[in-house]
Amino acid sequence: MQVRWEYLTPPDFEKLAREEKLCILPIGSLERHGEHMPFGTDALVAHEIACRAAQVEPCVVFPPYWFGQVHEAACFSGTVNFPADFTLKMLEMLLDQIASNGFEKILIVNGHGGNSGMLDYYIMSHSDRKVPYTLYTTFLMDGCWTETINHIWDNPDGGHADECETSMMMATVPGTVRLEYQRFAEPILPIHQLTALENVKTGMWWYDLYPEHVSGTPSAATQEKGEITLNAAAEELVKRIRAVKHDSITPKLQKAFHERHDRLGK
Ligand SMILES: [Zn+2]
Repeated sequence: MQVRWEYLTPPDFEKLAREEKLCILPIGSLERHGEHMPFGTDALVAHEIACRAAQVEPCVVFPPYWFGQVHEAACFSGTVNFPADFTLKMLEMLLDQIASNGFEKILIVNGHGGNSGMLDYYIMSHSDRKVPYTLYTTFLMDGCWTETINHIWDNPDGGHADECETSMMMATVPGTVRLEYQRFAEPILPIHQLTALENVKTGMWWYDLYPEHVSGTPSAATQEKGEITLNAAAEELVKRIRAVKHDSITPKLQKAFHERHDRLGK
């Protein structure tokens, strides 16, 4: 079944939108992942998982969206980073455009940890916008589903450009990972110079941990491990898509919230 927005024809697009009413927006960033991985990894992987999930639980999948929060990689080549207000405005305009094509619900599937704080803030700021659709966000790596595939890893430590993420990218677009470029001594551990600032955050927290934006043991990655992970992630995403499709409470709350808000005359 065709689910990719950019591949759909008008009759098939309109049918899918009318019947399922849900569009997925896979979001990532253009960000360094060490020397061995492509910049677009996060959005490409999120998009691939969304497409696999949509084969089971049909919905339209928007093309990979790159323009998230990635200020932590501003000092590297390949990063595209906009000012915060523009990033949020662009996201808002895109969501409105997607909805205007016949969708009552939009699920943002986030593939980049750096977007989590931005999306948490955005979805709250979105609550008092009176729009004819409901917005949901989910971060793929949240939840305990990853525990079911823990046995496949040589070294599960890391979290960025590590064995897991490298494997997923190998399976998402074979040929784009260049393991021969991985030149940092493994396992690549967090540096942690800021231990004196316990429970205090600065904008350098991530750069302090992983100044090369790579972690763990990438050289243990394989395409086969990536396939297993993508399928497990898609299986998990199917459950979340179903929950979003069946959710009738959020739209009702949204309606009641706005009626109350309107009565205030703000
Ligand atoms: Zn990534």
